[in-house]
Amino acid sequence: MPLVPCRACDHQVDTSALACPGCGATDPGRSISRQQRDLRILIVQIVLGLGLFVGVGSVVWKQVEPMVAQLTSKAPAGH
Ligand SMILES: [Zn+2]
Repeated sequence: MPLVPCRACDHQVDTSALACPGCGATDPGRSISRQQRDLRILIVQIVLGLGLFVGVGSVVWKQVEPMVAQLTSKAPAGH
C-alpha cells in the first residue's frame, strides 16, 4: 500500500485511507496537490475578480453611457 502525504497536513497516509489519522481530512490519498489547490484558489479569485470587474463596469457604464450618448449625438448635430 503506497503512502502519500495528506493533502491537508502532509502526514503520511495510505492512498486507500478514508480519513487522515493526523488531521481527519477525508480522502487524504486522493491528492489534490498544493499546486493544484493553489491553482484552484487562483482561478476562483480570477473568476470572482472578473465578475466584480464586469459588475462594477456595467454599473459605471450605466452612469456614463447617457453622457457618452449625449456627447456623441451633439457632436455631429452642429450643422
Ligand atoms: Zn492530514
